[in-house]
Amino acid sequence: MNAASEHTQLKVRPCPLCGSSGDRKLVLRRGQWEIVKCAACGMVFIGSEIPYDVQARDHDWEQEWRKDTARRKTEQPVMVFLSRCTRPLLPHTHGRLLSQTMHYARSGRLVDFGCSDASFLVRAIKYFQAIGIELSPRSVEIARRRVGAEKILEGPVTEVAERRLPPGQFDVVTQLGFIEHDWNPQAALRAAHCLLKPGGLTVIKCPNYSSWNRHIRGEKWCGYRLPAHCNYFTPETLSKMLRQCGFEPLPRPLADRLPTSDSLWMAARKSA
Ligand SMILES: [Zn+2]
Repeated sequence: MNAASEHTQLKVRPCPLCGSSGDRKLVLRRGQWEIVKCAACGMVFIGSEIPYDVQARDHDWEQEWRKDTARRKTEQPVMVFLSRCTRPLLPHTHGRLLSQTMHYARSGRLVDFGCSDASFLVRAIKYFQAIGIELSPRSVEIARRRVGAEKILEGPVTEVAERRLPPGQFDVVTQLGFIEHDWNPQAALRAAHCLLKPGGLTVIKCPNYSSWNRHIRGEKWCGYRLPAHCNYFTPETLSKMLRQCGFEPLPRPLADRLPTSDSLWMAARKSA
């Protein structure tokens, strides 16, 4: 699809937190995409949207990530080099996803929203009875090879969660690098709420819009990925959305509250 025909499919996106289509302030423009801040509630998000089928076909997240990484490499070779050099010092990312999840839950039935290539599931199935849902056909193919075809459901996450999984049967819903991609994050959170048993947990990781790095790096911040990332949460806006969807956010350990982190970690409990 060329840019012109895609453009005709863009429409104004209401604020994913408060629903307002009113006043919004421009934060960043890249190509045809604009990140805006809602004047009513402070939520930061892409202010226009594309339908799910177009997203699946033309904006495969893994492909977008590769394109964006290539772009950063060309525009910011020194930063990318430094980031490569420091990577071995960081705890193994996928190991961290599991340890963070296990801080809140250690066993039971788990569903991973937006499981990508199943890097997390490969580790999680050692402890949990775990399955994943993924939109990107390419990632589904890889994930099925890694953990077994029966453990990966393909399609728009919210739709699959609502139609193909039993409500009230799961102990944990993980959303690790997922909610920033979903054009209707409240529907996804409500779907997670529906799947969970009373007292069940959702564990979320997404880019931290409040990070110091975002302020320092401005438009070059690594969290800006357009249009792959369509929601830009702060701890406040994510807590508010979780509460709107029937969750109570849990107290966050100090290590997760540091503004130096580009990642926002949050767990929340479905009211019993
Ligand atoms: Zn709003």
